[in-house]
Amino acid sequence: MRIGILGSGQLGFMMILESRNLGYEFATFDIQPGPSRAISDAYFGPGSEKDFVDSCDIVTFEFEHVSETALMLANQEEKLVPGIRSVDLKRDRLREKTFLREGEFPIADFEPAYSAEEALRKSRRFGRSILKMTTGGYDGKGQFRVDWGKSSSYEVPDASYVVEELVDFDHEASLILARDSSGKKVSFEPAINVNHRGILLTSSTPAKDHGMGQIAGKLADRLDYRGVLAVEFFVKDGVPIVNEFAPRVHNSGHHTLHGSSVSQFEQHIRAIAGLPLIKPKLFQPSGIVNIIGREMNDHLRRKILSVEGTRLYWYGKEPRRARKLGHVNIIADTGEELEKKIGAVKDIIYGKNIDDYF
Ligand code: ATP
Ligand code: MG
Repeated sequence: MRIGILGSGQLGFMMILESRNLGYEFATFDIQPGPSRAISDAYFGPGSEKDFVDSCDIVTFEFEHVSETALMLANQEEKLVPGIRSVDLKRDRLREKTFLREGEFPIADFEPAYSAEEALRKSRRFGRSILKMTTGGYDGKGQFRVDWGKSSSYEVPDASYVVEELVDFDHEASLILARDSSGKKVSFEPAINVNHRGILLTSSTPAKDHGMGQIAGKLADRLDYRGVLAVEFFVKDGVPIVNEFAPRVHNSGHHTLHGSSVSQFEQHIRAIAGLPLIKPKLFQPSGIVNIIGREMNDHLRRKILSVEGTRLYWYGKEPRRARKLGHVNIIADTGEELEKKIGAVKDIIYGKNIDDYF
């Protein structure tokens, strides 16, 4: 069997690396070659969408913002897993938010807006809000914070927006689960996430569930989902609010490569290929620190790895400010030790001037 992956970034790379042992072939399609090209059995570029889909038995994706043509072809040939519905919802934030509201999921209040002027006008109702462009955003891109108590004028690019109330959360969290075609679901432990300027900086697990598992399960059922699904939450006074979902493996699940009985990557391939799922067991408190906008060198590599229990993943992408270039997986014996190690690795990578890299 040949599995096609749309997108050639680090998530696709880890999917292939983790599932090679299952004996499948992997083909990758992307507009521009990324890290996973080198380890794919076949690589397809622009213009060869049909050849790519035809050559695969099933097609999945590592990211929502991939070739629309290839997605459509894979859907037409009934090879796309997870199905087109979840991608469709993610390609337009307004569709996603409306779907969540209609499904009575707990979410932050929002208003749709179809111009910059309308977005700014509607944001006044919330006082403090985030204007999120409806299309193309990830890692905090296309988002603008507005606080009418602090300033009386803002300028944002003219676009369609979801105008969202700012949530004063206690912390952010995520829950990753896998669902197979029979509807069976298994969840990884929830993680606590810390974002900096809209980009995931650190993540640690285990964390309290607060009902997130049940909410994520309901979402997976509503989508008749197959594969690994990640749901991001804000937690306020012990109550979870859904921020967004990702119909794929997720940055906050990278620690499953070392701390868990199965990685999110192998679990995803199992779910889409119709293999039995593994009930994830967390062996040790585990977490990650993302390397963002910071070049790697031998000195830095050695310093990071001098913190006991760390593993380095460098994606080999062109360094750019605010770009995810790699991550460090960390395991520890206790939650307290994990937090200490996360803090130490963060200091080694960013020192005191983290904003220089974002
Ligand atoms: P991702 O890379 O996860 O896809 P994204 O660009 O799609 O990110 P969001 O997850 O919506 O964007 O927002 C990024 C971060 O910005 C959140 O993790 C959170 O830290 C902050 N944020 C977003 N919406 C809100 C909100 N309504 N209230 C408070 N903080 C928010
Ligand atoms: Mg997010």
